[in-house]
Amino acid sequence: MTSSGTGVFFDGLTSRRQDVHVALQDATLEILRPDGARLDMWPLGQLRELSAPPELLRLGHDGGNALARLEIRDRALAAQIRASAPRLTAALAEERGTTRKVVLWSLAAMVSVSLFTFYGVPALADRVAPLLPWSVDRHMGDIADRQIRAVFPTDPGGFECGASSEERPGREALDRLTKRLSDAAALPVPIKVTVVRSDFVNALALPGGGVYLFRGLLDNARSADEIAGVLAHEIGHVAHRDGARRALQAGGASLLFGFILGDVVGGTAAITIARVLSEAHYSRAAETNADDYAADLMKKIGADPRPLGEFLSRLTEGASEPEADQDKAGKTDDAGEKPTETEKRKERSLQSWISSHPESEERRRRVDAVAGDGPFSPVVDGADFLAIQRICGKPS
Ligand SMILES: [Zn+2]
Repeated sequence: MTSSGTGVFFDGLTSRRQDVHVALQDATLEILRPDGARLDMWPLGQLRELSAPPELLRLGHDGGNALARLEIRDRALAAQIRASAPRLTAALAEERGTTRKVVLWSLAAMVSVSLFTFYGVPALADRVAPLLPWSVDRHMGDIADRQIRAVFPTDPGGFECGASSEERPGREALDRLTKRLSDAAALPVPIKVTVVRSDFVNALALPGGGVYLFRGLLDNARSADEIAGVLAHEIGHVAHRDGARRALQAGGASLLFGFILGDVVGGTAAITIARVLSEAHYSRAAETNADDYAADLMKKIGADPRPLGEFLSRLTEGASEPEADQDKAGKTDDAGEKPTETEKRKERSLQSWISSHPESEERRRRVDAVAGDGPFSPVVDGADFLAIQRICGKPS
């Protein structure tokens, strides 16, 4: 089966509209330039229908660049695409459901806009973020997740670790750990941890329950308790709605209304969110609150909160004396003789993480104070810790 027609393509990276030729194949949609060169190919199973005027079929897709859009006015072709991609309609209904809820809540947000006049954006964000339904956080988080997956440079093997047979034991061990923490946290959104195949020494929380742990961070951990501490800290950011608050602060009211009016498909809002969240610069108060939350959560599962503080201070030392730390840790495998691009990048990323998590000594003392005396038991056994460290297939 092949049918074809014309459409308009937005690549998701620029605002340029391109007239294209669209060819519907058995399992894919091919997007071709007028000269026949292929711009993109979208599997039918990944297509998403987006809100659009009735005379228009607007499509996005789940792989590749999540902001790319294809618009089709040709009715016959649109009907054939709808018939060949059964997931389309379901996805649109889901999106409309979210939009309806968001519109409802937007009324509350609009009332808050008067606050904006008096207090400015940060205060507005502070007041609005806790009022928003969790579906807004999740919506923001989904957009940021798609955008980050599309643009974040990772090592060969795919963005996310844990899928191959050699990586799966690590994934399962991490899932067990995550479940203990998220059961204790009992948030209205599920915590979903993604291990990112990258040497960045970093972790970040998306609004709505998504947490990224970068392989570089797992590599630098000396115990599973340290990893659990960081995870608990990120769950704290989710619980406190820090990601949504930060996105609102950065994008302000226009961003919020962008969500409400469904303008998100325009892309600007999504890019703002992704950028802001991946920088992950929360205020110091937000960091301290997330630490306190982490310490409490670790205690709830009978685990020791102090390794989080130890990890933070060790990374700070590492950032000021990267070479000494390298030797101590005995990590010479891929360091080689000359500082490679990867090494330099590692150092930079370590420093950027520290700069977003300042005052480590002070925070360590604070975590220690909250910790109390225990008794504590390790969050997982040694075998699970090893498995978690090998979740990206690379023995540490
Ligand atoms: Zn943090």
